[in-house]
Amino acid sequence: MNASVLPSPAAPAVDRERRFVRRVHGLRTLGLGLGFFPVAAVFRQNGEPLLLWALLLVNGFAWPHLARWLAVRSTTPVQAEYRNLLVDSLMGGVWVALMRFDLLPSAALLTMLAMDKLSVGGLRLLLRGLLLQGIACVLTAALNGWAFAPQTGTAVMLATLPFMVLYPLAISTVMHALARQVRWQNRQLARISSTDGLSDLLNRGAWEEAVAMTLQRCRRSGGRASLLMIDIDRFKHINDRHGHPAGDAVIGRVGAIIRRCMRDSDCAGRYGGDEFGVLLDRADATAAMAIAERIRASVAAAVFEQAEGMHCTLSTGVAEITPQTHDARDWIKQADDALYRAKLDGRNRTAC
Ligand code: GH3
Ligand code: MG
Repeated sequence: MNASVLPSPAAPAVDRERRFVRRVHGLRTLGLGLGFFPVAAVFRQNGEPLLLWALLLVNGFAWPHLARWLAVRSTTPVQAEYRNLLVDSLMGGVWVALMRFDLLPSAALLTMLAMDKLSVGGLRLLLRGLLLQGIACVLTAALNGWAFAPQTGTAVMLATLPFMVLYPLAISTVMHALARQVRWQNRQLARISSTDGLSDLLNRGAWEEAVAMTLQRCRRSGGRASLLMIDIDRFKHINDRHGHPAGDAVIGRVGAIIRRCMRDSDCAGRYGGDEFGVLLDRADATAAMAIAERIRASVAAAVFEQAEGMHCTLSTGVAEITPQTHDARDWIKQADDALYRAKLDGRNRTAC
């Protein structure tokens, strides 16, 4: 395999940080772009000087891209983005004072900025943002001669509407996508933590849990189910003669053959070492014997390319649920006892 295409161990963290910066950049571009209009409407109404218009244009349309550039070139992009978010808050305070506290656009601006902080950094970032915002607002208001005109005109109201409607929708969409990603990752984690890496079957804990649940259900509803306990014959010899990696390959191959021979409703696990368990739902001992024989014959006929002349046989014990089956451990022991008899009778066979 070409090593250069493999992700480095640090890649997932770097990818996560890049995705974070990209997400924040998208939201900032939209938020500040839409936020430009209510502030511009107030500036037009109040006849503000060109210098303030220039500052507003830079903040609305250039700052999002400068902020992204700062985050991308930083060695700690997430920290840099947190700093950028605080700059957003600070500028929010400046705009509120420069709008002479015009009520609707000020409230909309402060709410959207608070939503940003809460969704990205929680209460801590929000409080830091509010502090900076307060300081910037008071200083700007003082420089602006404490100008105060809270009444909102119709034109300003109309210019504020798109910002108030579209920006929360964008944030909710991003949050929904993130929640879906977390749910998918949780499902993957649950799958990985219940799977045996070598055989790709369930691991012992997850399989025993499935056995216990099926036993409970069968006892409640009187349904039928059987267990197979399968052990590779003379596996130590395979390891000794062909090496441990060849032994590992045999475990993987036996796992694949078991999966191929069972039905969708059945459930197989690696019980430990070279022993496997198969839970056969709605199968009596006769049906279970047939499936066990199919698995045994397939493994006996398998050709292993890992080592020339390597052969592998299985011994299997079968146990159907009986009124004497008290719990899962009991059921597994019955199948294990049958397996022991199969070994005693000469291996490469199935016993019930
Ligand atoms: P028997 O027919 O009586 O089952 O003989 P056996 O040699 O198979 O005996 P046993 O089942 O007790 O031996 C299991 C061996 O499986 C012992 C251990 O070295 C080997 N083993 C356990 N886990 C692994 C594994 O993950 N990979 C490999 N390659 N070998 C394993
Ligand atoms: Mg064995």
